Amino acid sequence: GKAAAILANHLEAVVYVSDSNSSEQIISNAMELMNNHHIATETGIHSDKIFNSDLWIISPGVPAHSKIIIKASSYNIPIVSEIEFASWFTKFPIIGITGSNGKTTTTHILNQMFQRSKTVGVIGGNIGIPFSECVLKEILHPSKNLVYLLEISSFQLEFISSFCPHVAIYTNISEDHLDRHLSMEEYIKMKMRLVENFKKNNTVIFNEDDDALKSIFHNSLLKKSTYGIKSLNHTFYVKDNAIYHSSSNKVVTHLKDLKLKGKHNLLNFLAAATCADINGIKIENIKNVLKTFKGIPHRIEYVSSIKGVDYINDSKATNINSVIVAIKTYNKPIILLLGGYNKGVDFGLLIPHIKCNSVKTILAYGEAGEQIKSALGDAVRLVIMNDLNSAVKNAHSIAQPGDIVLLSPGCASFDQFNNFEDRGNFFKSTVRKLS
Ligand code: ADP
Repeated sequence: GKAAAILANHLEAVVYVSDSNSSEQIISNAMELMNNHHIATETGIHSDKIFNSDLWIISPGVPAHSKIIIKASSYNIPIVSEIEFASWFTKFPIIGITGSNGKTTTTHILNQMFQRSKTVGVIGGNIGIPFSECVLKEILHPSKNLVYLLEISSFQLEFISSFCPHVAIYTNISEDHLDRHLSMEEYIKMKMRLVENFKKNNTVIFNEDDDALKSIFHNSLLKKSTYGIKSLNHTFYVKDNAIYHSSSNKVVTHLKDLKLKGKHNLLNFLAAATCADINGIKIENIKNVLKTFKGIPHRIEYVSSIKGVDYINDSKATNINSVIVAIKTYNKPIILLLGGYNKGVDFGLLIPHIKCNSVKTILAYGEAGEQIKSALGDAVRLVIMNDLNSAVKNAHSIAQPGDIVLLSPGCASFDQFNNFEDRGNFFKSTVRKLS
């Protein structure tokens, strides 16, 4: 909310910032708003003052069914999310990237494709700089030819009204955030809000290999562009271990030349390439990025090899589908570190994949440890551990040369860490101390 407050303040609104949290970080942010921007704030409480407002810009952390939201609607206070608010003040197009998994990777690949074009890509939203900060920068230092690449979560879409990206990308839809959205229907409905204000010239790009997305968009009248590897009917198609472009039917890249491995990453490449193509990026630029993009930290990231055992950090895997993707990436025996704070997922969904792939042991740790054990039963050898530290030490003591020790937790990190980056960095430093 800090960036939204600063933008609103710059636009001469009378801004009041209220946060029920009173952690050190929140207090320091409040002090910064007061001292540097003369914005009034309160922390540790939502006083009645907040109901005397013309507009609320809500943090994505506040659920739509929370008490203060219900109270605000009885006062008829309009509520918008930060991306909605910031979008009112930009003159540049927005590419919105959403889905359950692969958003960040796709956004970064796309950003690199824009790098050598006339249009400058700016990453914002859920990752990078908050969109409000990008827009303030645009107002203060007008520039030409920007395109905003916004990674958009379902939470950000809860409170949009006129927000309309020029292109929307849907990577896939699988179970996630059910602690917040309560049902899969509600989660999908929220994700679909990204295209609800679409006009004739806007395009939705979606992964046609994803059954949920295929059926959602099947009868849609929106302008569509698809990608996938199951059919050849796409702008970029995959045949004989190579990616082809449909306009020339020439090879763009051989799959062996892609730096980033895994079928899921191939889909991320295709999503970004399709979008880049629609935005007029030259095929040479697309080709270059496909061959050079090495990935981003905490997503199936190689850490080190100790006595013939590879350690992989996939701390960003915070739902079951991303764990499945990670275990499918390897055909070596895997010791899987699974656990953390369960966001309401069914760990039983892992069973068929554990059986087909080579997961030999699961070390289940943290708050979700017992739930994992009861969901998986005796499908695999499973040991409950107190925390990630003991799980890493235990993995090290039981691993055999040729094994993979994979942290792909399938849970949020909040029971033991501030966020997935902290968790991944802790894993990496613990592993490095083992060697
Ligand atoms: P997001 O931003 O949507 O959380 P990321 O790009 O950060 O996605 O990747 C998070 C995790 O999801 C990765 O560690 C990987 O295991 C998995 N993943 C990445 N891309 C895909 C994809 N296209 N389909 C399924 N899983 C994916």
